[in-house]
Amino acid sequence: MSVLKRDYYEVLSVSRDADDNVIKTSYRKLAMQFHPDRNPGDHEAEEKFKEAAEAYSVLSDSQKRASYDRFGHQGVSGASGAGGFDTNGFPDLGDILSDMFGDAFGGGRGQQQRRNRAQRGDDVRYDLELTFEQSMQGLSADIQVPRLDECGRCHGKGAEPEDGIVTCPICKGRGEVLYQQAFLQVRRTCGQCGGRGQIIRRPCKECKGEGYQRRERKLKVNIPAGVDNGTQLRLTQEGQPGVNGGPPGDLYVITSVKPHPVFERLEYDLHCRVPINLAQAALGTKVDLLTFDGLQTVNVPEGAQHGAKIRLKQLGVPKLNSNGRGDLYVHIAVSVPQKLSREQRKLMEQLLETLPAENEPEDKGLLDKVKDYFL
Ligand SMILES: [Zn+2]
Ligand SMILES: [Zn+2]
Repeated sequence: MSVLKRDYYEVLSVSRDADDNVIKTSYRKLAMQFHPDRNPGDHEAEEKFKEAAEAYSVLSDSQKRASYDRFGHQGVSGASGAGGFDTNGFPDLGDILSDMFGDAFGGGRGQQQRRNRAQRGDDVRYDLELTFEQSMQGLSADIQVPRLDECGRCHGKGAEPEDGIVTCPICKGRGEVLYQQAFLQVRRTCGQCGGRGQIIRRPCKECKGEGYQRRERKLKVNIPAGVDNGTQLRLTQEGQPGVNGGPPGDLYVITSVKPHPVFERLEYDLHCRVPINLAQAALGTKVDLLTFDGLQTVNVPEGAQHGAKIRLKQLGVPKLNSNGRGDLYVHIAVSVPQKLSREQRKLMEQLLETLPAENEPEDKGLLDKVKDYFL
């Protein structure tokens, strides 16, 4: 090592206030240019490569960089690898090297860890269609969920229990192989075993080496009253089993509700339309309505107008996660008779003479409203 070290900013040809991206880009360029694989036997390139890596290891770390800015090389002495270094000592070096040379560099170790890491099982979605009545009342549904269960014979290993698995002969069970590349010692995932360190010699007879079996699992699901289209019910840990001892995923039951011929749901309220005739509207009437709470008598007051709403409190949809219920709205539709008997016509004509004619246009007619809307 030379006694006089070059300034790190100078090494990376960046200004002292360069941001992280600029520093990284510059380092990348130098690393590519001076990498030993591209300059075999060139000692100067090797030194430049190391120098750049050292500079980058300091300037890419905000703490080290701050210390370097205040105290110079002394502030970060010991931070860099003098002599032979491995790729792990330098942030992003593995990343940069694998950009250039593919997965042979750097990635191997992480990959192996990924393979053996405990992983949570996948979540499973189950679509459940309900009748409108079922959504109002709730139910206990028997469902069959396809699920991958760990194979009982091999316990998920995929190999015959006795002698199905052997230690990988290439990596001797380490999952990675080390080799020397120029002055770099490189770890690479073992190609033979894919980093597992073991290989399957004889696949499990039961699951044909898959490690799991497809099963239909029967489950009882309590569907609460009040579910709607798209309501999600989560059943914790009823999804796919985990990998390498991880917990199982969750099961999501997603409901869809068939429409009802009479009632329409809006949030937690129900709406329906009840036609009454002219005379009923004028005189008031009682209408029997079959609701989800049995037969209810709806009192239509005297002089009910077309489109009037009558509210039946608490006869709507039960609210999820609370005790309340929505309301039921009866929309009154006044129907005008299209055909009259002779007697009815006579009565109507009498009515016409006695009823005041109120044909003044209303203050704001429909057209005005339409105009207001567009202008
Ligand atoms: Zn098996
Ligand atoms: Zn191996």
